[in-house]
Amino acid sequence: MRRLYHRTSKMVKETGYYDLLGVRPDASDTELKKAYRKLALKYHPDRNPEDPEKFKLISQAYEVLSDSKKREIYDRGGDQAIKEGGGGESHFSSPMDIFDMFFGGGGGSGGRRERKGKDVIHQLSVSLEEMYNASVRKLALQKNVVCEKCEGKGGKKGAVEKCPTCRGSGVQVQVHQLGPGMVQQIQSVCRSCHGEGERINEKDRCRTCNGKKIVRERKILEVHVDKGMKDGQKIFFRGEGDQEPGLEPGDIIIILDEKEHSVYKRQANDLILKMEINLVEALCGFQKVIKTLDNRELLINSHAGDVVKHDELKCILNEGMPFYKNPYEKGRLIIKFQVNFPNDGFLTPEKLKQLENLLPGREEPIQDDNAEEVDLVSFDPTTYRQKSSHNHVYNEDDEMGGRRVQCQSH
Ligand SMILES: [Zn+2]
Ligand SMILES: [Zn+2]
Repeated sequence: MRRLYHRTSKMVKETGYYDLLGVRPDASDTELKKAYRKLALKYHPDRNPEDPEKFKLISQAYEVLSDSKKREIYDRGGDQAIKEGGGGESHFSSPMDIFDMFFGGGGGSGGRRERKGKDVIHQLSVSLEEMYNASVRKLALQKNVVCEKCEGKGGKKGAVEKCPTCRGSGVQVQVHQLGPGMVQQIQSVCRSCHGEGERINEKDRCRTCNGKKIVRERKILEVHVDKGMKDGQKIFFRGEGDQEPGLEPGDIIIILDEKEHSVYKRQANDLILKMEINLVEALCGFQKVIKTLDNRELLINSHAGDVVKHDELKCILNEGMPFYKNPYEKGRLIIKFQVNFPNDGFLTPEKLKQLENLLPGREEPIQDDNAEEVDLVSFDPTTYRQKSSHNHVYNEDDEMGGRRVQCQSH
């Protein structure tokens, strides 16, 4: 894909938070969400216990950048401004709270004991074709189930006894004398029973689950990707999540992750397609065939006499993405034309004269005698970067920001 316009640029003091999420400083809210979703699932301590720091940093970056006010403060003053603005690092929310808020979980993740087993969250990478045509995906997952052999007791009846170390509470309290009259109490998970509050003699332990009451089980899920589903959409399998003895099982939550498409870009229910045409086609008309996501062919006509301008948008109604739960209705297929101009010297001076006679007339400049004649050179946006050491200039591909879309039926 070629960059064509550098109409908008964004100046930021530093890019650390953006780098953490792997996005550009001009990333949209949707891009930020998608980036956080991917990384938060990858680095969640359940899946990646080796690197809790990374999970924390991602959450902090997302917390700042997802809040337009904080993002502005960060863009202007960087990390320091954020920390000064809120009185130190402590004002960041807990990474788990951000995670729960984002994923709408609360199924006991983060070590909070609730009356439900943990939700199992899984991201499923889905192509645009699958979201257009619908598909059924089989997904193999590992989950905890209550051991059938011992019915979740961990051993024979009567074999379970209170942990003598913590007297059944599951926690150990250590008291440290810090100074005269000052003591510090530290609570930690009981090491003898791992917080269970009970123990089972080795010989009485259930051999299937080794006294753990639960076993890992492979579960195959059929995920129905319906027409028109979106990136980030959740599909719930109620009660299919982790089981724990005495608790209601959690849910399995599948989150769809839309893959980038090589040809189409999706914007809600619209599909955007970039089409390159040559100058002769822009001026004299053309026919082009495009392939839809369900493999039909559409013949696009620009009739002789129609002029297609560079960057112009046209659209075909009802050829975008199907609406979710209403798939007979579809969005628009928007075509963004890119006109390829011929290279320097493509015509001899004589032929150029002929061409000029055919084209609409030129406007003679109103010229002052004092006007200075200057040269035009090619513009290179990167040359600005060398001038300022702190501020970077970022350029955004010119999207369809605020432009009118003309529509035509086909
Ligand atoms: Zn104990
Ligand atoms: Zn068992």
